Amino acid sequence: MHSPEFFDEGTLIGVLTTQPLDRMLDYKAPEGGCHLGAFVEVPLGPRKVLGVVWGAGQGNWDIKKVRSAYRVLDAAPMRLEMRDFLRRSADYTLTPMTAMLRLATRAPGLGDPPSMRKIYRRGPNEPDRMTDARRRVIDTLAQYGDLSFTLKELADMAGVTSSVIKGLVKQLVVAEEDSPRDVAFARLDPSRPSKELTQDQASASAYLAQEVTSERYGTTLLRGVTGSGKTEVYLEAVAAALRAGRQALVLLPEIALTAEFLKRVEERFGARPAEWHSGATMTERRRIWRMVGQGQAQLVIGARSALFLPYQNLGLIVVDEEHDTSYKQEEGVLYNARDMAVLRASICGAHVVLASATPSLESWANAENGKYKRLDLTSRFGPAVMPTMKTIDMRVEKLPSDRWVSDVLRVEVQKRIDQGEQAMLFINRRGYAPITLCRACGHQVGCDDCDARMVEHRFLKRLVCHQCGETKPMPEKCPSCDAEGRMAPVGPGVERLGEEAAKLFPDARIATLSSDMYGSARALKAEIEAIADGAADIVIGTQLVAKGHNFPNLTLVGVIDADLGLQGSDLRAAERTFQLMRQVAGRAGRAEKPGTAMLQTYQPEHPVIRSILAGDEEGFWRAEASEREQAGVPPYGRMAGIILSGPDVAQVFEIADELARRDQPLRQIGAQVFGPAPAPIARVRGRHRVRLLVKAGKGVALQNALSRWAAQVQIRGDIRLVIDIDPQSFY
Ligand code: ADP
Ligand code: ZN
Repeated sequence: MHSPEFFDEGTLIGVLTTQPLDRMLDYKAPEGGCHLGAFVEVPLGPRKVLGVVWGAGQGNWDIKKVRSAYRVLDAAPMRLEMRDFLRRSADYTLTPMTAMLRLATRAPGLGDPPSMRKIYRRGPNEPDRMTDARRRVIDTLAQYGDLSFTLKELADMAGVTSSVIKGLVKQLVVAEEDSPRDVAFARLDPSRPSKELTQDQASASAYLAQEVTSERYGTTLLRGVTGSGKTEVYLEAVAAALRAGRQALVLLPEIALTAEFLKRVEERFGARPAEWHSGATMTERRRIWRMVGQGQAQLVIGARSALFLPYQNLGLIVVDEEHDTSYKQEEGVLYNARDMAVLRASICGAHVVLASATPSLESWANAENGKYKRLDLTSRFGPAVMPTMKTIDMRVEKLPSDRWVSDVLRVEVQKRIDQGEQAMLFINRRGYAPITLCRACGHQVGCDDCDARMVEHRFLKRLVCHQCGETKPMPEKCPSCDAEGRMAPVGPGVERLGEEAAKLFPDARIATLSSDMYGSARALKAEIEAIADGAADIVIGTQLVAKGHNFPNLTLVGVIDADLGLQGSDLRAAERTFQLMRQVAGRAGRAEKPGTAMLQTYQPEHPVIRSILAGDEEGFWRAEASEREQAGVPPYGRMAGIILSGPDVAQVFEIADELARRDQPLRQIGAQVFGPAPAPIARVRGRHRVRLLVKAGKGVALQNALSRWAAQVQIRGDIRLVIDIDPQSFY
């Protein structure tokens, strides 16, 4: 039935709530009626819950028993395009609609009336008596002219207690006013001068500008080495969207949301954009959500969930570092923000820019087959050139078992220090040592709840399980044979490498960067910025240093174990290693000084290592593509991972076996089921995990078959079934 756009008071409406129910609920339209898409507050049992008017009510209930919605919230109704997007992303990821709605309303107090707060500015009077503290308050206000502050801001900036300010308010030296919390974001000005673009950059940005103004959906893969000016180019596409009066969204991996980046955006457009990330306060989230919905935030820079904000008129989505694995949400709603960005844009007629130095094979293949346009920036901007790449053959280095930096690498690092440059040592392993072993009996300390070894973290002075986060103190004696003083670390982690470096380079300033060593993302970013300014000679880090930071004085990158990523059985092991090594190497030689990257490896002839070295990206992608095509795996086939988990392993397997047996709905579409098998990490947080893998051809209706298939078995008791479409992780 076609839904009217407006429901008169008392007519039946179907409401989608954020509560975990798998159906719409019927209510009567509240006093004054409501629009289709309106946010409403409805009674559910004894509670008031948030919902969206999704259509006419089903009318399957006794009309007398249907309750009235309480009220329409003071927020722009959810647009048809957004409702469409939620429905289609729910269908794609096999997620209940209620969970999608929760994702789209992740801001507190959406229904509250616009709240007010007190702000402070200079008042008409002079104080009866001047003190130092009062002088500082008056000076601070004078210095910032028209700006107003919250009490805390003003107290902090003037270095006084709030009672000093309150005293001045009484005398009207400082004026106190009420101001709404949800204020519009400052207008961005796209007509401010941009940098003078190179020819490559100019033609790329002209193409994107034209696409953005066409108001037709399209996707462009913007490929270019780190430092080639991809950001400059896509900021021009943002400018084009703003000129056309449309909103723009730039998605970044969480950690790449740096002050440096925001400063660049502010310089280009003369004001700060909205920033949506995990560190944003609740007040800020609410403000962004509302302003985006009212078209009073023109540009959002955000982590993946910014995709679910209620844009009013979205014209451009940029996914920077589009290959980054953090775009896939691995908990709750399992979605890939890159793919959902394409879906959203195709619904609202926006353009998508996927930017990367090392695109995912998915995007590369989509460019090959013509679904995406591909633009290449071929050289670094200015004098910077790509680093020279070399391997160090560890088979001939003969290092003792507790050392990881080869002599060749040590000499090169020392050279950089002597020249006043920076060097980076990269190892993709957190903690001190991956294994803690008893030298008497060979016992390895594992997690009590997971099928995983505990990793020693000296910085925290604990053993940590990287699966569940459980920690325990370092045991004095072996938990298995009771031998005392025989527990020993085996293998390197980033902390242990830091220790080795301190011995090898006693005079160097060494900074070790690992996500767990910093209390907050903010502290970590501050540390990274200090290093970029020259606060360290040697940077030692894990994967997170590979992500988009700029160290102008860094000229050498040493990769401690280039083979690490190649050992996994993961479908994307080669691709990931290739990307990671190229990204890490790209940290070297960003400014005038040329860089060198050295890869320590036991298998210098491995095809992946060779293509990294040769810098033959197209060659690598073609080879990787043809292997995957032959195997019928993504992006040339489809996959879904099924994870069953529960406290009782026999029960979990029973259901998994039943699923494997009753594969008729999958066979109908030519899909195959593999497994069940214990997951590579067979127990997490005390729950046993069993995996099945479904492989299907490219163009089949996989989701539909999967739902019918899974619906055949009854999930009993404490068992959980999770379906992961296009899985990225297979643990
Ligand atoms: P990418 O996003 O590809 O890593 P960026 O856009 O960050 O590259 O550019 C790298 C550096 O070069 C930045 O500091 C940027 O400001 C500078 N840059 C790039 N293109 C130009 C240009 N046309 N004029 C001036 N500076 C530029
Ligand atoms: Zn654990």
